[in-house]
Amino acid sequence: MDNRRRAHAALAPLLAAMETDRPACEGDQRFIDDRIRQGGGLRDHIDMRQTCRSCPLLELCQEFATTARPEAGFWAGKWRGGEPRPLSRNGGDPL
Ligand code: SF4
Repeated sequence: MDNRRRAHAALAPLLAAMETDRPACEGDQRFIDDRIRQGGGLRDHIDMRQTCRSCPLLELCQEFATTARPEAGFWAGKWRGGEPRPLSRNGGDPL
């Protein structure tokens, strides 16, 4: 089975489980941000790991993240695709 099919196979049970259990990170923008606020990095990281530990979807999320290797975001207790970059003084606005 190629990587794409493995990723798809790992996504299906995660999506099915989400029909009955909500992700603990739901609505938390930090999990999808690719920028972090200065000073909040380590504190946020610890807090987000704790959120994942309490999540009913942790095992399935980890299986998906390990298989699909998302290029960004915080999945199952880890940043994927590298640490997010700090926000610049202008909040990351390129202008
Ligand atoms: S384990 Fe996955 S779904 Fe659950 S809180 Fe962490 S990132 Fe979100």
